[in-house]
Amino acid sequence: MTQFSITPPAPVQTALDMLCAAGFEAYIVGGCVRDALRDTAPHDWDCTTNAKPQEICECFRGFHVIETGLQHGTVTVVIEHNPIEITTFRIDGVYADHRRPDSVTFTDSLTDDLARRDFTVNAMAYHPARGLIDPFHGADDLQCSLIRCVGDPKDRFDEDGLRILRAMRFASVLDFAVDPQTADAIRAQKHLLHHISAERIDTELTKLLCGTAAERVLTDFADVLFTVLPELEPMHGFDQRNPHHDYDVYTHTLKAVAACPPEPVLRWAALLHDTGKPHTFTEDERGGHFYGHAAVSAEIAKRALKAMKCDRKRYDRVLLLVEKHDMVMNGTEKQLKRLVRQIGEEAAEQLLLLHKADVTAQAACHRAERIEESDRLLGVLAALREADACMSLKQLAVSGGDLLALGIPQGKAVGQMLNRLLEAVMDGSLPNERDALLAYIQREHEP
Ligand code: ATP
Ligand code: MG
Repeated sequence: MTQFSITPPAPVQTALDMLCAAGFEAYIVGGCVRDALRDTAPHDWDCTTNAKPQEICECFRGFHVIETGLQHGTVTVVIEHNPIEITTFRIDGVYADHRRPDSVTFTDSLTDDLARRDFTVNAMAYHPARGLIDPFHGADDLQCSLIRCVGDPKDRFDEDGLRILRAMRFASVLDFAVDPQTADAIRAQKHLLHHISAERIDTELTKLLCGTAAERVLTDFADVLFTVLPELEPMHGFDQRNPHHDYDVYTHTLKAVAACPPEPVLRWAALLHDTGKPHTFTEDERGGHFYGHAAVSAEIAKRALKAMKCDRKRYDRVLLLVEKHDMVMNGTEKQLKRLVRQIGEEAAEQLLLLHKADVTAQAACHRAERIEESDRLLGVLAALREADACMSLKQLAVSGGDLLALGIPQGKAVGQMLNRLLEAVMDGSLPNERDALLAYIQREHEP
């Protein structure tokens, strides 16, 4: 490994200095070392020390100290408004439940602490004066873009099944390969994922989906994905027998995932959009068809997302996108405005992006023109937004209060009139100007 130095942010350096001044060892450790060595800005800086939790608290007397997980040896110290996690060197006890150690023991050995960590690239520590501490050769694996377990992969996954998805997640996010022995153990022990909570699986899978190499990782470890989402398995190898499609449904799905911007809602929608296809397949002399598959996909997506216990907001939006993904668009500005009115601007843009990803993942024959058409629609939407075009009630130049003031009776009539105004503004027969709208109301609402 060539010479390098990591400069932690000032508050983190303060934490290291204070622990060292009190006679303890202290290092930055884990993800921040990995990311700093890859020239990527770490999003949090974890510290590890041989000071026991109580000693950490004493060392930072006068600071705001949060006893985050005292029994596991984690204390959070707030320095200059930055929360810094400091964890005592520890050895994990037996993992009876394949997820969490029954007990932890504190240790004076940094190497022991690094040995309990999941992957070599996550098992490095660094101190500005002492340099890199890397007993498991994480820096070499980082250089070779490799995810490899610390120790025997089989044992490490047996201890904590979540590491199976973490390995795939890091491979996807960092665009790393998985070491063959680690990969074999992932496949052999995928059943351990049944011990892991839905929320944890959802978190890891969402990060994996948003990673650069999601398509490759989910191709290589399709069977692991099907262990947590069995609803997806029927797509695997399902021949579409249709000239628009070069790929089987699963391959097409992963290509659509990769073609979406790396954002959870879109990538989940892409993953689930065609789950209904294997269940709706029919064939005639023109080839395979999947009539009504979007509605069936939405039903399957409901089950899958519920099983993942994903939050309500994502659940609702992903379902909406899956349900509407196959909507035929003739692409006029008017139609687009109606779409925005119906589902909102953000969802409409997501639907167009999903549509673009979907056609990007289709056979080459019509792909270029379909992508072009998708881009055109996205352009029209951007222009409407730029022009602040009125596409929702709240953008109207009058409000319900104005209608009441003009004598429209409270209740249904107000909503009806507002909707009529919006229709008229959207189709261009009225300008979205207060005076014009008020005049229209007065004309229409003769007492
Ligand atoms: P990021 O925060 O970018 O997702 P990270 O490597 O910091 O990546 P965290 O989940 O924040 O990941 O965990 C911090 C460190 O704790 C890891 O780098 C790893 O050393 C260790 N670690 C986390 N989870 C596990 C686990 N399930 N098994 C073993 N070690 C783990
Ligand atoms: Mg982290």
